[in-house]
Amino acid sequence: MTLVHNNSVSAFQKAVTLIPGGVNSPVRAFGNVNDTPVFYDHARGSKVWDVDGNCYTDFICSWGPLIFGAGDETVLSAVKQQLDKGVSFGAPCMAELQLAQKIVDVVPGVEEVRMVSSGTEATMSAIRLARGLTQRNKIVKFAGNYHGHSDSLLVSAGSGVATCGIPDTPGVTAATASDTMVARYNDAASLEELFAAHGNDIACVIVEPVSGNMGVVPPEKGFLESIRALCTQYGALLIFDEVITGFRLALGGAQEYFGIEADLCTFGKIIGGGFPVGCIAGKRQFMEGFAPVGSVYQAGTLSGNPVAMVAGYAQLSKLQQAGSVFYDELARKCSFIASSLRTFCAEHEFPVQVNNIGSVFTLFFSSQPVCNWDSASRCNTKQFAHYFSSMLDAGFLIAPSQFESVFISAAHTQEDCEAFVEAACRALQRVPWNE
Ligand SMILES: *Cc1c(COP(=O)(O)O)cnc(C)c1O
Repeated sequence: MTLVHNNSVSAFQKAVTLIPGGVNSPVRAFGNVNDTPVFYDHARGSKVWDVDGNCYTDFICSWGPLIFGAGDETVLSAVKQQLDKGVSFGAPCMAELQLAQKIVDVVPGVEEVRMVSSGTEATMSAIRLARGLTQRNKIVKFAGNYHGHSDSLLVSAGSGVATCGIPDTPGVTAATASDTMVARYNDAASLEELFAAHGNDIACVIVEPVSGNMGVVPPEKGFLESIRALCTQYGALLIFDEVITGFRLALGGAQEYFGIEADLCTFGKIIGGGFPVGCIAGKRQFMEGFAPVGSVYQAGTLSGNPVAMVAGYAQLSKLQQAGSVFYDELARKCSFIASSLRTFCAEHEFPVQVNNIGSVFTLFFSSQPVCNWDSASRCNTKQFAHYFSSMLDAGFLIAPSQFESVFISAAHTQEDCEAFVEAACRALQRVPWNE
């Protein structure tokens, strides 16, 4: 059966005349999988309906924010109440305090937070803060890690940049790019070399504690510990970019999960309950480098927006109430899918790797283990495109790229998960393995 997408196709024809490439974020483009994007009409729980009336089970979950699925009642009712009180103040409000207190309560080592409107702003401001505090210029990131689209961080950036095959982004000056040094993920020695050569000039190391933007790549044992030790040794700040892992891997994010405290951390996605929110968080001694206490400038007209704050607060409060059994159940569903697919592929000798941790996984089209960008970039993206098309046609939405995560939400039922496995097995049998 082939789903009919006539309305999406004509919407997309119009969209490309109004919006570059027809999409407001390149990761939404289907060019890499030889298709046109599905235009969503509405969503509820684990389901999404498109403008042609097709129903899908959604495993994109808005790229992470919707950990309870679409249209969660707790979040919606908080938002509805706030709408009558005011949608934007540009002034302090109690909702900011509530969300800030919640983050301080649940994330290890965090004493203060600064709210922004996206993950990009959070990481951009975190590295500015690190540079201001240390009075050093250089930063280190890891190949294949994505930290949003600010100039300094768009170097070897995985995700959409990798999907579009863009090695270096025009518009980022050579001077800016030269202040960003790149180490290999899961290779502490590559970071040690950079510190040995430039130790006195490195302001910070920023890392996705679990890589999600080259597909899911968990940290190997000891990797995060080594980064922590090197940063301490050389007086550089360690920034955990927890935009995906925050409130997902555990309530306290990767810092709780791995028992490692960063100096600064950044949040996005889940923190806004589906609204545009980001946040820089950390110890008071660092956070008070920000104006108006300190001299590192950072600002935002819509920062701490009351609607976004109550949505985030409702979502985090619900996660806190649900407790660790909630995270265990998400992880159980995710590992059910991952291990079912791993077993199936082993039986059929398909050259596929399945990486999973917590409630995220990626199926990589590669015969070799995927542990960093070198190994991820060798995946067969043509085979992925075939797999993606079969999944879409079977009514399952996953990100249209090999280099992204599949997200499990609380709204996914055991039935949804079993149906996903069944569809994926059928899709894998149709992949032209010689291509
Ligand atoms: C999504 C993401 C960002 C960027 O967040 P936006 O809200 O899209 O700007 C930064 N870091 C990581 C790890 C992300 O996954």
